[in-house]
This record gives sequence, structure tokens and C-alpha cells, in this order.
Amino acid sequence: MSLISQNLQVVHEAIALSAARYGRNPTEIALLAVSKTFGAEHVVQAWQAGQRMFGENYVQEGVDKIAEVRRLLADDCAADQLVWHFIGPIQSNKTRPIAENFSWVHSIDREKIATRLSEQRPASLGKLQVCLQVNISGEASKSGVSPDQLLALAKHVVQLPNLNMRGLMCVPEANEDEAAQRQAFRSLADLRQQLQTQGIMLDTLSMGMSADMQAAIAEGSTMVRIGSAIFGKRNYAV
Ligand SMILES: *Cc1c(COP(=O)(O)O)cnc(C)c1O
Repeated sequence: MSLISQNLQVVHEAIALSAARYGRNPTEIALLAVSKTFGAEHVVQAWQAGQRMFGENYVQEGVDKIAEVRRLLADDCAADQLVWHFIGPIQSNKTRPIAENFSWVHSIDREKIATRLSEQRPASLGKLQVCLQVNISGEASKSGVSPDQLLALAKHVVQLPNLNMRGLMCVPEANEDEAAQRQAFRSLADLRQQLQTQGIMLDTLSMGMSADMQAAIAEGSTMVRIGSAIFGKRNYAV
């Protein structure tokens, strides 16, 4: 059994344990494997271990990897089982390759980006599934719409023809204290509730990474984005 396959098993067990602890149904918590900085062969190993959803942060790296994984699998039916999620910051001149290569985008934080993704989404691929990224800790350096601008952005996105609004995403300020982690995630869950009272229904809360997954599950995460706990420590220099 490969190390990646062992790691995936450990992560699935951790999700099940957290779900049991907080009275959640583990089948309602999807695992997104974040493969940024790792090569296509790592993705194929995870695929062989049953993983189907993969997350990428950088456009060119992601687009190249999607093509390389398709080549390595040498089987279009197999390659079509992979669902690619874009989770990184988006520059407006990079929306087209995202719209053409990914099934999901978690990191929409302004109207212009959403409009371009909808315009550039090829009809043959169906709607792009999207989450709005919220700057939940109010950090100046972080991407994400501020909570007070969220409703306006959501109202814009729901009327775009080629986007399917699925939920909210956040990357809170790093904090080792679980109570603080939970507070940030609870704020995102509250924002989802507020949008729902405005008639904007959302089935996805994309929250929780390797270091704060349990707190995210406690607060209602439906999709955890896990990188290093599956693929190992990242080396950005490579
Ligand atoms: C890198 C990254 C992850 C995964 O982080 P790990 O700590 O390796 O689990 C999740 N979400 C986003 C937005 C990321 O950039």
C-alpha cells in the first residue's frame, strides 16, 4: 500500500472520528485532496486509492497537471472520474483556463471574476459549481469578500447563467487554539444561515485544512480541503 493511500485512510478515519464526536453524518463531509506542488503521479496514486476530488491553487500548474493525469491514466473514462476544484486566488486575466478546465471554483471574491467565469464557461461542460470565499478573519493580506459585502456578491452570482452557487469557503487566520478555530468557522456557518434567510440556498461549507479539520467539522463543514496530511510536506522551491 502506498504512503498516500495510508494517509488517505488515516484522514478518512479522522473525519469519521470528528463526525462521531460532534454528531455529524460522515457521509455529509466530502474530502478534497489538495495536490498543489505535487506531481501528477501523486494524484494518480491517490486516484488508485479511491480519491476522486482534487484541489489546485495555481492556474498553470493545475491545468498542466489535469492534462498530465489524463495522459498517465490513458483512459478517458477513468480521467473523467476526477473532479478538479480551483481553490487559489484568481486574477481576472486567468479566468478562462479556470472556466475551461475545472468543475468547481471555491475562491470567487468579486463580481468581475464571477461574471468572467460565467461568460467563459464552455456550454459543453455544464455549469461551473462555485463557492464564495469570505475573508472571515479580516486579514488585510487574505483573499475573500468581507462579510458585509457578501450578500451583494451572492445576489450577483446567483443570477449568472453558467454558475451554480453552492456555498461559502474560508481560510481563517492560523491559530492553534481549537476554540478560536471554531469561532472563525462558526462565523462562516452563520453567514450561510443569513444568506439562506434571504432565499439563497447553499449546500456547501468548504472549510477545514490539515491543521484545523476537527474544528471545521464541529461547526458544520461539508467539504474539508486537505493537502499535507495526504501528500506530505510541501516544498515550494521545486
Ligand atoms: C494549501 C491549501 C489547503 C491545504 O492545506 P494543508 O494545510 O496542506 O491541508 C487548503 N485550502 C487552501 C485554500 C489551500 O491553499
